[in-house]
Formats: sequence, structure tokens, C-alpha cells
Amino acid sequence: MSRIAYVNGRYRDLRDACVNVEDRGYQFADGVYEVCEVRGARLVDFPRHMARLQRSMRELRIAEPMPITALGIIMREVVRRNRVTYGIVYLQVTRGVARRDHAFPPNPVKPGVVVTARALDDEKKQQAAAAGISVITLPENRWPRVDIKSVALLPNVLAKQHAREKGAHEAWYVDSDGFVTEGASSNAWIVTKDGRAVTRSVDQGILAGITRAVLMEVLRAFQIRLEERPFTPAEAREAAEAFVTSASQIVMPVVAIDGQVVGDGRPGGIARRLREEFHRFSAFS
Ligand code: PMP
Repeated sequence: MSRIAYVNGRYRDLRDACVNVEDRGYQFADGVYEVCEVRGARLVDFPRHMARLQRSMRELRIAEPMPITALGIIMREVVRRNRVTYGIVYLQVTRGVARRDHAFPPNPVKPGVVVTARALDDEKKQQAAAAGISVITLPENRWPRVDIKSVALLPNVLAKQHAREKGAHEAWYVDSDGFVTEGASSNAWIVTKDGRAVTRSVDQGILAGITRAVLMEVLRAFQIRLEERPFTPAEAREAAEAFVTSASQIVMPVVAIDGQVVGDGRPGGIARRLREEFHRFSAFS
């Protein structure tokens, strides 16, 4: 089955889906994006993702291409046309097409909109979660505005590649004070030996993950204490459990950090439980 993408008003076969070479997303990474999980052919936590998208666009002064309800219709249509029941849908909004010049186009241009969807292998994901993943750490080298979900992801690309070459699945950035910020494409968490869940606060140089926010409701419901504070790789290596959160991984246990096992080297009980219960707390639409 051929894959279908939405590109600036049209649904096209992925092979013919093209953007203008002067799209500022292509030339300058001048754009923002969102990734929603698709489960049971429905979008998971769509309103929260759209609220973050609107914030990202506001911060970069990118015009809203269309009302959020219309974006939702397109995203669901791309999911439907690709027959995705479990997977992800990707939405990208760029500043639009203009003659190449670093400053914003002097006259307003229409923002570019691209939507793609992809099925994921549920069984494979569950196997990964049952085994747990390993992470490596590396120095934070991104710009300070990582709160904006921009498509400028080159440091993240290099970090992820570095992780892969070391046989790991994720890279955790460490700031100049020695504290973990977040993963290249996920938020970082630990569980202390006395059962508190710890993750960095969103005003401390991380992306405000949607999975992270929903997970906080799960923690509240299960009366698991939450501490929003930075932690070091050393504290993480000595912690009872570690895990990462993102829309495509939900709660993914971490069993090794820089080659050293966390806990007994198997996914922790709290991470496992949070993963199992997570979708009871998500909004489906
Ligand atoms: N941090 C970064 C850098 C990310 O790329 C992601 C994934 N989009 C996250 C955190 C997790 O965010 P979410 O839970 O909204 O997917």
C-alpha cells in the first residue's frame, strides 16, 4: 500500500509529495512540528498537542495556517488514508515559501503544512518496553529555546546517531552544571529508592512533553510522589528506576545509563505500571 501525505492542501502519494525548495522549513529549519500517538485509529491527547503547537508558532511568530479543528480533520484523514490504527501522525508547519533571505518575508506568506502518518509495530514496542532501553549521556549543545518544538533538530540528530553507534537507544543531555536536561527526543525521569518520581521542571531548559504532563496525572492518581527538579547522571545510575517519556514511546523503561545498569538491570515496577495505566488518562479524539 502506498503511503499518503498531506502537503499544502493536497493528499499525495508520498513519492510525489513535494515542497518548494524555497520553503523556509527546508532552507532555515524555520518551522515547528508535533507528533501525536495514534491508538485505535484515534489521536492521543490532540488538544494538548495543538495547544503546544500554537505556543510554538506564537513564539516564532509563524501565522496559524488554519483553525485547529481543520488541522485535526486533516490529521485524522491522513491517519485514515494510511490505515494507521497504531502509530504516529506528524504535523509540520513552516513559515512558508519566500525568496531566500534570513529575515522574515516582508509580506505575509502562507505557512506550509505537511502531515504524514506511519504505523508502528505494537508488538515490537511492547518487547522493547519489556526489555528496557539503554541511554548514553552527552553535553547539552542545543540552543536555549528548546521549549519551542522547532524542526531545527541537528543537535538531536547527532546525539541520537551517537547513541546508536554506542548501541544505545537514547541520548540524555547533561547541562554545564552536570544535570540531565532531557533526551534527544524524550523527557528523562528517575524513580528514587523511596519511590518518588523525579523529572526536571519545564522552566529549566526542556521541552514541555505532553506525555510528561499526562503522566503527572497518572502519578497523582496512584499517589506516587513527584519531584520536579534536576538530577545528575550519577543519581540516575544509582536510582531504583529510570525511564523516558514521549508520544511515540509513552513510558519506556531505561535499564542502563552509560553502560552501567540501573536497579537490577530490568524495567522497574513503577515504570511498568505507569506504562500500563497511561492511556486511561489520555484523551482520545
Ligand atoms: N523532549 C524532546 C527533545 C522531544 O523531542 C520530545 C518528543 N517530541 C519530548 C521531549 C517528549 O515530548 P512528548 O511527550 O510531547 O512527545
